[in-house]
Amino acid sequence: MENYLIEKIKVFSERYLSKLTKLRRDFHQYPELGYNEFKTAERVTKELKKLGIQVKTGVAKTGVVGILTGEKKGKTVALRADMDALPITEQTSLPYKSKNKGLMHACGHDAHMACVIGAAMILSELKEKLPGNVKFIFQPSEESPPGGAKPMIQAGVLKNPHVSGVFGLHCDSAIPVGRIGVKDGPFMAQADSFNLTIKGVGGHGARPHDCIDAILVAAQVIQALQTIASRKIDPVQPVVISVGKIQGGTKRNIICDKVTLEGTARSLNKEVTRRIPVLLKNIISGVARSAGASFELSYSPGYPVLINDHQATDLARETIANMFGRQAIFEIKKPLMGAEDFAYYLEKVPGTFLRLGIRNPKKNAIYPWHHPKFTVDEDAIKIGASVLAGVALDFLNSKKKIQSR
Ligand SMILES: [Zn+2]
Ligand SMILES: [Zn+2]
Repeated sequence: MENYLIEKIKVFSERYLSKLTKLRRDFHQYPELGYNEFKTAERVTKELKKLGIQVKTGVAKTGVVGILTGEKKGKTVALRADMDALPITEQTSLPYKSKNKGLMHACGHDAHMACVIGAAMILSELKEKLPGNVKFIFQPSEESPPGGAKPMIQAGVLKNPHVSGVFGLHCDSAIPVGRIGVKDGPFMAQADSFNLTIKGVGGHGARPHDCIDAILVAAQVIQALQTIASRKIDPVQPVVISVGKIQGGTKRNIICDKVTLEGTARSLNKEVTRRIPVLLKNIISGVARSAGASFELSYSPGYPVLINDHQATDLARETIANMFGRQAIFEIKKPLMGAEDFAYYLEKVPGTFLRLGIRNPKKNAIYPWHHPKFTVDEDAIKIGASVLAGVALDFLNSKKKIQSR
């Protein structure tokens, strides 16, 4: 990007900082759960319309899509924010803490919206320099699978005009404010869920031989499931299988006839994600059969593996380095086993998902996502807005065709 554009972005991000901070605080005070982001969507719409951006509302229920048409013809790039909050009671003493009882923006989606609106403000100022169009995607319900990204895509947000690159970011309290996390390739896991019921035969605790003990079978199943990671999948491929909930039994001297289990299965590789449910079923059925028990298993695939495009990630690296210097790039070494529905956009269109550094112990911005004391250093908002505006401009200006995987 040319230097004068970088300067302009910096000036505008500075100019809009107080507005964006206020906006983020307004979002923060009135958090809404997935598919209930009505007030939030209304505010997003209002802010985009103020900029003269063409807006479509009610996309996938509460989603909002804005389109900024550049004065020169060219490609279309999308910037995405998520709008939903969490069922958490905020435990901060901030003057703008949540006023919606039991709900909190504890994942920073309030800041993501402010960053994308900030990018819209900056890019609107640079409209005559825009060689193409920018779509601003505000999606519902990132926190709860099946999520909002997929229905937004089904509603056509990546078409008319066709989107050829997509960028988004997520706050990260492990990264100091002022730095941006980048990662090539697989970045976040596919996180599937499963529900299992094991059925045995109940009876008196003193006569186990007349019964089929569902608790014992469940215990064997839980242990045996760990052999998926340790004995069935290539050890260099990360796999997590966890049973997080188990329920069964009524009294110490009654052999339990039914146990229910709920678990999560995660991996970073599409082939592995295909194999896990098959292995799971084989192991459960073998263990259950050996005990004479029966079972019911339901397996639901979660968000797919999030894979950042190499070229798009390199483009973001260059943008960050040009705007803030190389030291602002925080190379994320290892993928995470968490999931994110931004993955769906990346399945369709090349792009990259960045991490926005928000850590600042002086402002108490140290808590992890979903913590009741989660907060962000708001200085990150202008950085996030600038970076998103910058990658959008650089993407539209890039002669290199960024190919889909
Ligand atoms: Zn979250
Ligand atoms: Zn989040």
